[in-house]
Amino acid sequence: MAKEYDLTPKQVPHVQTALRCIQTEIPAPGSVAALEALARWEPVAMRGQPPIVWDHAAGFQVYDAFGNCWIDWSSGVLITNAGHGREEIRDAISRQAAKGLLTSYCFPSQERAQLVERLTGLLPEPLKKVFLLTTGSEAVECAIKLCRAWGVRHGGRAKNVIVSFEKGFHGRTLGSQQAGGIPALKEWIVNLDPGFVQAPFPDGFWTKDTSFDVFERSLRESGVEPQNVAGVLMETYQGGTAAFAPPAYVQRLRDWCHGHGALLVFDEVQAGFGRTGTLWGFEHYGVVPDLACFGKGISSSLPISAVAGRPEVMDQFGPGSMTSTHSGNPVCCAAALASIELILGEGLVTKSAQLGVLLHQRLREMQQPHPEIGAVLGQGLVAGFICIHPEKREPDGELAWKIVRRSIEKGVLMFSPVGYNGSTVKIAPPLCITEEALRESLEAFEDAVNESLAGPEAAR
Ligand code: PMP
Repeated sequence: MAKEYDLTPKQVPHVQTALRCIQTEIPAPGSVAALEALARWEPVAMRGQPPIVWDHAAGFQVYDAFGNCWIDWSSGVLITNAGHGREEIRDAISRQAAKGLLTSYCFPSQERAQLVERLTGLLPEPLKKVFLLTTGSEAVECAIKLCRAWGVRHGGRAKNVIVSFEKGFHGRTLGSQQAGGIPALKEWIVNLDPGFVQAPFPDGFWTKDTSFDVFERSLRESGVEPQNVAGVLMETYQGGTAAFAPPAYVQRLRDWCHGHGALLVFDEVQAGFGRTGTLWGFEHYGVVPDLACFGKGISSSLPISAVAGRPEVMDQFGPGSMTSTHSGNPVCCAAALASIELILGEGLVTKSAQLGVLLHQRLREMQQPHPEIGAVLGQGLVAGFICIHPEKREPDGELAWKIVRRSIEKGVLMFSPVGYNGSTVKIAPPLCITEEALRESLEAFEDAVNESLAGPEAAR
């Protein structure tokens, strides 16, 4: 179970530089009432994030209402690729709201038409049809449905197996949770669907052997006949570590899917829209999937997600049978269109690649003297800083926790550690972060790492 933060305000050294400023204790005394109300009226499951009560946010900075400001390394949860509260996105939302069309169900709208046309124009062949939804989990559910329908139609009822990856995450709804590869999150499901199996993810760190043979062997061990696989679902990089698979592995996987009539699905919910230094994360592999799921960074703001795919796969269901109440909500579409224009117009994809080089280089320098930092993973403006007990090479969630807490005290905002036993400090600033702010936040982070590793007396 995720750790909870202590809500008693604690004095932190006042940090005040050009870009960051922490003026009060954390949590700010004035925010405690809101934190207590949330603790009282929401389920425990909503706790677990650092006790910062967000008030407003601009670009790469987040503010509370008590005079504190952070350089954001969370992007919410990898949402705000174009930046927080960007004027162009706010204007697009305001214009749409002022026009008076706030919702339209599946009745046609110009905004929906513009967005699906824009997305298909940006996506490579054969991803030329797009279905809009609201959350990443829904997009994954839809992809699972499309794979299974395709499998059953082309290979009979036994062709329904969805292969995904250990330690993977695809959402919390029944299907997306079963496609995930974290057993603890599935304990509530007593009747697990045997049509979901997981293979080791070739991250090169927790799974040393990154050869494609492991995939085939793992299917044999799970008793899965390759011809019964309807789809292989893979996070483009694994959210829990920011690890990519080796391109050669994914190219073999692409061929394997072709050979066995299985659909290859990339879950791009975290990786899409420039996060990794390419517009689409799958570009790193030199392959194109049959289906791709998007969310988070699609709008940098309002909830909207998408499934893109080969037309013949997307067109399996007849009119009215793949709908959703908020599909293509016009305000969300307007926000997504504005965000996409910002990402492309400001060259944020290239910027993500360039600043990513700086980010990863500095993180690797920080890692060097410390065997407790097992790896620095990721590409572009996403990084996983993996904390371990070096003697046993086991995850060290406590250390990750300390680093996040201290970083926040120093003016760098992050969400709680993720991944295997909470051992990954995940770094994902908005792509509009400046080099100056990135360097400054890296300095603060380095101090947080060094202090967290300084010994038991440094422990909070
Ligand atoms: N897929 C991936 C790779 C994700 O990271 C997430 C969310 N963390 C999801 C799916 C689920 O998205 P949502 O929370 O919007 O349902």
